[in-house]
Amino acid sequence: MAGLSIGIAGAGLLGRLLAWRLAHAGHRVTVFDPAPAPGPRFDGRQAAGFSAAGMLSPLAEREVSSARVAQLGWRSIGLWRSIVADLRARVGFAERGSLLLAHRSDRGTAQRLLSRLAPDAPGTVQPQALTPAALATLEPALLGPAHAWLLPQEACIDTVAAMCALQSESPGVAWAWGQTVRELVPGRVCVDGAQPHRFDWAIDVRGVAGQAPALVRGVRGETVWLRLQGHGLLRPVRLLHPRHRVYVVPRSADLLIVGASEIESADRSPVSLRSAVELMAAAHSIFPALDEARIERLDVNLRPALPDNEPASSIEPGLVRINGLFRHGWLLAPALVEDVLQATGLAAAQTPVAVAP
Ligand SMILES: Cc1cc2nc3c(=O)[nH]c(=O)nc-3n(C[C@H](O)[C@H](O)[C@H](O)COP(=O)(O)OP(=O)(O)OC[C@H]3O[C@@H](n4cnc5c(N)ncnc54)[C@H](O)[C@@H]3O)c2cc1C
Repeated sequence: MAGLSIGIAGAGLLGRLLAWRLAHAGHRVTVFDPAPAPGPRFDGRQAAGFSAAGMLSPLAEREVSSARVAQLGWRSIGLWRSIVADLRARVGFAERGSLLLAHRSDRGTAQRLLSRLAPDAPGTVQPQALTPAALATLEPALLGPAHAWLLPQEACIDTVAAMCALQSESPGVAWAWGQTVRELVPGRVCVDGAQPHRFDWAIDVRGVAGQAPALVRGVRGETVWLRLQGHGLLRPVRLLHPRHRVYVVPRSADLLIVGASEIESADRSPVSLRSAVELMAAAHSIFPALDEARIERLDVNLRPALPDNEPASSIEPGLVRINGLFRHGWLLAPALVEDVLQATGLAAAQTPVAVAP
């Protein structure tokens, strides 16, 4: 059985996961991306996959997403578990659950949100209310919130380490850096200033620059990366707040990510003072030790979204497009990729099929 030739436009989260999966299935893969090199740059223009905090929160995100997103999310957590186990590099992946916290004055907001978090999938556990003593046992570093709930099945992943490992552990993949794809048609990837490249399959995963069945828009997200030795936080924490969806995610023993704004704009300019102050003040209100944290980076990026904020895949012979992962790319990518590979028959190597010239 010979592998097929596959051209992928975009070396972001979906592009790297597809390349890794397709290369291991025995296909010949080329990936095109305008980025100058595979690593993160934090310049506001890199793949959104690098900027993501890496929360895998099917239940907490039910506030803003559909039952379909939640179901894809629960499947993806299981898939990430086995992907991370297959990677040689150490990629942080924790399944300790996540916490929802609310200050006393925000109890009404919290109750409204919790009422919308009905678990849809069989086996999904409801948020569990914690006493202050139970919270102090789970997360001694947190102080101040009057109300807390544990979502025990949620997870998180180190997005930068996963992006790097998927790229460097994809056997035989040709990575074409500095190449901007102008257009994809069945079996062809057209790069600026070059003859079209021919493949058995062309795959469009260019995020905000991609084409999809509907118009793709960018939704601005800003984060603050904080360095604090021995911060002690073990799991992602969301603070319920009337105006913000603020989270603090532990990335390593001394690095935390505080996020994220959600602004309907494709503006990639640096993080605003307002967002930075609001995010940091909210995080500090539950985590007093942040007093001594050092601001390592203010990061900005765009989430690729379709009009209904739902992900979409389209398949025609020789051409696949996946887009619209919005604020759930890490939550959705493995299940979406698996579904596309099954639907196209690319999950295992096959003999080439002719694509219309
Ligand atoms: C601040 C922030 C926080 C987030 N937090 C989370 C989270 O906690 N959990 C979660 O599940 N999701 C999160 N997300 C969402 C997630 O990052 C995205 O949904 C995901 O990265 C989308 O993946 P993608 O492959 O479609 O796009 P991207 O990862 O953006 O990749 C697109 C790639 O296409 C390339 N490209 C662009 N133009 C071209 C071209 N013309 N030719 C070729 N290549 C091109 C880009 O350089 C890039 O490498 C967050 C996003 C942001 C911005």
